[in-house]
Amino acid sequence: MHTVSKSLNTAVYKIEQPEGPLTKADLKAIAECGRIIKEGGLVAFPTETVYGLGGDALNGGSSEKIYSAKGRPSDNPLIVHIADMDSLESIVSEIPEECRILAERFWPGPLTMVLKSSGKVPKRTTGGLDTVAVRWPDDLTAQQLIRQSGGYIAAPSANISGRPSPTAFKYVLEDMDGRIDAIIDGGVNPIGLESTIVDLSGDRIMVLRPGFITNEMLSEALGTEVVTDPAILDPECKDRPKAPGMRYRHYAPKGEVRPVKGSDEAVREHIIRELALAKSMGKRTGVFCSSEHASGYDADVIRSAGSLDDAKGAAHEFYSALRDMDDENADVIFVENFTDRGFGQAFWNRLLKSAGSKWEEIK
Ligand code: AMP
Ligand code: MG
Repeated sequence: MHTVSKSLNTAVYKIEQPEGPLTKADLKAIAECGRIIKEGGLVAFPTETVYGLGGDALNGGSSEKIYSAKGRPSDNPLIVHIADMDSLESIVSEIPEECRILAERFWPGPLTMVLKSSGKVPKRTTGGLDTVAVRWPDDLTAQQLIRQSGGYIAAPSANISGRPSPTAFKYVLEDMDGRIDAIIDGGVNPIGLESTIVDLSGDRIMVLRPGFITNEMLSEALGTEVVTDPAILDPECKDRPKAPGMRYRHYAPKGEVRPVKGSDEAVREHIIRELALAKSMGKRTGVFCSSEHASGYDADVIRSAGSLDDAKGAAHEFYSALRDMDDENADVIFVENFTDRGFGQAFWNRLLKSAGSKWEEIK
């Protein structure tokens, strides 16, 4: 069933069975949202990664509306979401063999591929680039919405620019209520971190944004080593990140984020000391830590997420924790050293962005 929210003009459609099969009422609500997108409107919708803010990717005016609803710079291109391979053919100039292999293995799923554009997707969607970023999401609601909208939805994360990506319906409502036409409520996103972006448009295959699909998984599928854009791993690197969006400070809460690296025990002791110091200076304190360590900290806000070797658990909770820290007016937020191997690289990358690319290394 769908309800209209109390806001000025944003309708809310609640999906009864996000995991499927979609009910009759779900299909009806999604059809209505598809109509809104076809007519040039904006609808936020769930995916397996985070909520997307969707508009018709082939309509430059819709993309302009997306940029303005988010307050996002218009040179930061949007990802085009599709729901079958045929749709890919017409928006790219060629489908390289690597794309077919990765699509076969990881689509539908949390992988975005950057390919040479055929020119069909307007430059207002691609941020003026000759390439286009494409993803086929795994979420049933998202797939149905794409089909009902004409096959191509441009969708960045459904947050106001600079805020953490929304990982549950309530955060989308917080940021987008009154700014867009509709929101589809599909509950909490399973992954909670944006897709991996891999560039297949140049001479060298490269990960532009780490995510749930790791370099190891890509390398294994392609039979050749896939590396990450060095500019996003090393804050001192002189080259600019190749994905325009990775150049902006992102995901930033109001408080100062302080990641701490080192052995478990050294990190724990350091955070205990620094918490006491911050408190003595009258600051409101926050900690994002492993569940094992949570009870040992004396802070105003404590959010825990699985164990230190579980980057997936940490990533799933991270954005909502940052929003909690804002709601609680935390001035300083310490973050423990979750693993930075495999999928941990994606979590570490988002953590560093939220921290303005600095961390403390404890010997
Ligand atoms: P978001 O929509 O918030 O998940 O961000 C999309 C990300 O994809 C941003 O970092 C964009 O800069 C990046 N992106 C989109 N299209 C391209 C492209 N054609 N080439 C490189 N990066 C892209
Ligand atoms: Mg985003």
